[in-house]
Parts: sequence; structure tokens; C-alpha cells
Amino acid sequence: MEQAKRGKLIIISGPSGAGKGTICAELMRQMPDLVMSCSATTRQPRSNERKDRSYFFVSTEIFLEMVRKNELLEYDQHFENYYGTPRKFVEDMLGYGKDVILEIDVKGALQVKQNYPDSILFFIEAPSEQALYERLVKRGSESEEKIQIRMARNKLELAQRHMYDYCIMNDSVERATREIIDILKEKRGQ
Ligand code: 5GP
Repeated sequence: MEQAKRGKLIIISGPSGAGKGTICAELMRQMPDLVMSCSATTRQPRSNERKDRSYFFVSTEIFLEMVRKNELLEYDQHFENYYGTPRKFVEDMLGYGKDVILEIDVKGALQVKQNYPDSILFFIEAPSEQALYERLVKRGSESEEKIQIRMARNKLELAQRHMYDYCIMNDSVERATREIIDILKEKRGQ
């Protein structure tokens, strides 16, 4: 019997407030054959986040245990918290021939690209720094101090966008999503 072709990793990164989450949700809606990885994090849930959907919210002890047991495909620490991709779900899905979306930061993305060279890396950009700032304020989940920390980190991430296969400007969610879908379909030869 012919074996199913292995799936690919689709990595979505970009500054806090660039609209990555909205674009991922739209990608999943328009391409139902994609699957989304759910990361583990030690940060506190936001009021609009659902347990085991947005993230697996875990204690630092449990997270470090996952690291120790090599259960994470990649992980990183930022904003005083750990974030990581559980390995088993992703590996299972790739084995079933499914393409898997990872919404992760730049450091994690580059780790993944090293280990999975056929991953497709997208960097989502916001039209301006002011637009990013306004989105973070509107989200209402972080203090001004934490927003400033995220804005500083955004600058560092932006400086690494040349490492990505594609930079996508999120001037409109509909247009940005269409651009990503067109690229994915072309890569699949559809
Ligand atoms: P937030 O706290 O806003 O949900 O996420 C902060 C940052 O962590 C974002 O840049 C997000 O892409 C990144 N992130 C979320 N999950 C993971 C993960 O599993 N691994 C890594 N390396 N970064 C992640």
C-alpha cells in the first residue's frame, strides 16, 4: 500500500498585535484540511482565552518536565514565561500527511526550520508601529509597561524577518490570508 506523503510545517510569526491569531483562524476556516498546533505556556490565560484551545496553560514545573522528557519540538522563554510546541501531536499529524500550522516566535521558528527544512515560514507584518501599539492597547490584556516590553521585542523580531520565506503585510486580514493561501496552493501544485 502506498504510504501517505508526510505533511509540512507552516510557521506563522510576527510582532505581538500584528494579527497572527486572526489570520491563523481564517486560514483554518478557509483550508479545513490544515491542523493547528496548540502550544504549551506558563503565562496566565487572558480573559478571552479557552483552556486547551488557545494554549495548554501549565505550571513552570510541568513545562520544565516536558523539556526534560524531550516532549517539545521547540521552546523559548520570553516575557518571563515559557512557550513551546508539544512534539507528539505535530509528529502524528505530519505522519498522517497533514500540514500543521505553528504560531510561534522567531527563535522557535528558526529552530524548527533547522530540524524540518521543508517548513514554510511566513512573517506577518503590521502596516505601522503605531497600528501595532493601538492593537495591543485595544486588546486590553497587558499593562502599559508590558506593552512597552512587547513593542521593544517586536523591533528585535522585525529585524529578523529576512530569515523568513515570505513576509506578509496584514493591511487587511482578508487580503493577507488570500496571499498565504495562494502560496500554499501553489506549493501543493493545486
Ligand atoms: P502571547 O503571549 O501573545 O500569546 O505570545 C507571545 C509570543 O509567543 C508570540 O510571538 C507567539 O507567537 C509566541 N509563541 C506562542 N506559542 C509559542 C511556542 O510554542 N513556541 C514559541 N517559540 N513561541 C510561541
